[in-house]
Amino acid sequence: MSHLQIGPIEIFIGEKQSRTPYSTSLLIKGKEEDALIDCGAGRPVFDHLKKEHRIRDIYLTHYHLDHIWGLYLFPEARAWINGCDVRKFSDLDEIARANGYYAIFGEQKAKQMIREERQPRSGEEAVREKIAWSSILGVQKSVYPYDRPFELAGVKAVMLHAPGHCEGFCCPYFPEHGVLHVGDFDLTSFGPWYNNADSDVDDMIESAKRTLLVDADTYVTSHQKGVVGRADYKRMLETYMAIVDRREEKVRKAVRSGLPPEDLIFQEVFYLHKNVRETPRLLTFEKMGVAKHLRRLLKHGEPIHDYYQSFLSVHGMHGEYVDYFWQQPPSDHKNDTREGVK
Ligand SMILES: [Zn+2]
Repeated sequence: MSHLQIGPIEIFIGEKQSRTPYSTSLLIKGKEEDALIDCGAGRPVFDHLKKEHRIRDIYLTHYHLDHIWGLYLFPEARAWINGCDVRKFSDLDEIARANGYYAIFGEQKAKQMIREERQPRSGEEAVREKIAWSSILGVQKSVYPYDRPFELAGVKAVMLHAPGHCEGFCCPYFPEHGVLHVGDFDLTSFGPWYNNADSDVDDMIESAKRTLLVDADTYVTSHQKGVVGRADYKRMLETYMAIVDRREEKVRKAVRSGLPPEDLIFQEVFYLHKNVRETPRLLTFEKMGVAKHLRRLLKHGEPIHDYYQSFLSVHGMHGEYVDYFWQQPPSDHKNDTREGVK
C-alpha cells in the first residue's frame, strides 16, 4: 500500500499496483468525517482506512466491480452513485443487460448467469464478486449530481460526467486542489476499454478531451500508471486514445479483405491470444468490442451492414442488446459550461 497526499486528498494505490480487480481510491479528509472515492483498493488499504478514519460517505464513479467490491466492508457508510447507474444498482438484470450479457448470451441465459455469479465458487475473487453484486443491491444509496460543484467531506468537488467507458462513468474533480481522478482513462498499454453494452467509442473520445478542459495539474488513474502531472497526462492520453484508431483500422482492413466474421474475434483487436487462453471469458468482451467497432464503421458510412449481421449471427449474438442506454445523459450535458467547471 502506498499513498500520496495533496491538501485534504489522500491517494491510495491498491493491491498489485491497482491492477484489475483492484483500483485506486481517494480519501477526502473532512473536519470530522471522511469520504472515499471508489472502493476496490484491497484489504491492506481497507484495513488502514477502517483503523485510521471514519468513512461516512463512499462515492462510486461507476458500477464496475473493481471499483465497488469493498463496499460491504463499510456498512456504516452511505454509498453515493450517479443517476445513470441507479437501475443497475437495484436490479441484477440491468447489470446483465448493461454489461453485455444479454447481447452475447440472450436474455434468458444472461439472467441465469448473473444470478449464478452470486453463488460462491471458490477463492477470494468469487467471494468478492458475490458480495459485491449482492451488497450493491442491498445498500442504501443516494445520487450525486453531475457537473456541478458540491461539498464532498467539506471539500469542493465536481463529478464530471465522462461517458464512454460506460454510460455513467465520471471523473471526480477537486478544483481548489487541481486534482482530477480520471479513473479508467488509465493510460495503460491495453488502451481504452469500452466493451460493455453501455459503452460507446465516440463518447469515450469526447470524454477524453473533456478531461483536459479542466484546470487540473494532478491526474489520478485507477489502475497501474498511478498519478501523473498534466503534461505527462496529455502526452500519454494521446498515445492511449490513438489505440482506438488502430483497433478500428484493424477491423476495417479485416472486413475489406474478406475475413470470415467468425475469425474476426481472433485478430487480437483487444485481447492477446495468450490472455484469452488463460481467461476464456475475455472473448465475451472481445466480441462486444468488435461489435462496437463494426457499428461505428456502419455509423460512419462503411457499407458493411450484411457483414455486421453475419458477425452477430455466427457468434449467436443478439443485436438489439449490443447498445444499452436506459437513460440518456442529461440534456444539458453536451453543451454545458464545462469550461466554467473550475
Ligand atoms: Zn470501469
